[in-house]
Amino acid sequence: MDEKPIIVLGAGATKACGGPLTDEILPAALNGEMAHDDRTTLVEDREELLALASDFLQDCFNVPLGREKATKKNCPSLPMVLSMLRRSAAAGMPIGAWQGDRLVKAKRAIEYAVFAVIEAALRRIPSDHQFHRKLLQPIYSRNVEPTVLSLNYDVIVDNAMFYLSEQFQGMQPPDYRVQIATERYTDFCTGGTFGQLLKIHGSLNWLYCERCGRLDLFVSEGMRTGKALDELYNSVPFDDAYSCRGTPCRNRPNCDGFVSPVLITPTYVKDYENPHIERVWAEAEAAMKEADRATIIGYSLPTDDVEVAMLFKRGLDHLPRDSITVVEYIRDEEDKPAEKRTPIEEHPTGQRFRSLFGAGLDWHTTGFKGWLRDQKDAGRFPFTQD
Ligand SMILES: [Zn+2]
Repeated sequence: MDEKPIIVLGAGATKACGGPLTDEILPAALNGEMAHDDRTTLVEDREELLALASDFLQDCFNVPLGREKATKKNCPSLPMVLSMLRRSAAAGMPIGAWQGDRLVKAKRAIEYAVFAVIEAALRRIPSDHQFHRKLLQPIYSRNVEPTVLSLNYDVIVDNAMFYLSEQFQGMQPPDYRVQIATERYTDFCTGGTFGQLLKIHGSLNWLYCERCGRLDLFVSEGMRTGKALDELYNSVPFDDAYSCRGTPCRNRPNCDGFVSPVLITPTYVKDYENPHIERVWAEAEAAMKEADRATIIGYSLPTDDVEVAMLFKRGLDHLPRDSITVVEYIRDEEDKPAEKRTPIEEHPTGQRFRSLFGAGLDWHTTGFKGWLRDQKDAGRFPFTQD
């Protein structure tokens, strides 16, 4: 029987590998924890971006900067800041004393800060924390095409899928199910794709031109794990994609627009009219309806993620409940025997999933790493031996 697994990755999956959670990104940026070794962004540009981000957050969001270190407690929510910047810039409205070109520059500065922090964290992922690769490898090796739905902006899973496609599938890249115009990527795709990668909140490596609607794929230094990525990288280096002066659309001379990364905040999905995002949501729903099993890792189903809850409900309701796996992380539970672990009805994440789908879900509290270990020991998905 053909397997049709769908894997859903939330912030907890990135956290398990050492990547930053959303509310850790602004403090990390303000404290200077980011990549400083890119060669193509002018140093003046980068310094200007960081100074701008600091000034803006201090002026508009009362972040106390000086000798004090930025913390989660004194930084605003990143999704809120990004949404306010995007909407105000688009509508020509001020935020505090910031308006016009200065506000657009602040927007680019914050987007750069997000990129730089995640990029820096990506480079630091130790080889024994490559859980995405560990999860997907047995699936690739038995020639099953996985569908991965990522709620994250980072490129950890992109990385794993490109790497595995090179190992097992003759460099057939994953299909993002959006219209990527980047020639090198479309060249790869003409040889066939393997698996789908649906990024419903966008991605750090997607750059979009609002003027002409073109979407490009950029590859960062930290993503270069194989030959395919090296080739992509050489055609579209990522480092020069971020600048407060703006990165011109690759559709020149036909378009004189500028591109920005596609980072959609969950609460504002429907407010941001990007045809690519609209398409990937439709593709995600269709893929979910086809799936014979869903594995949801590191996603807590927050109560304000209404769109995602609706997508899950429409897309996964056909599945028997024991084919819906929810992997949550509770400290130290991976070392406890199964009967001593927190049951679904006693955990807020478990309660929310149970409200949505009812009883009988395959519930785990061992986190990404502990779950992989248990599944492997028991010969269960993804390590099934058929
Ligand atoms: Zn354009």
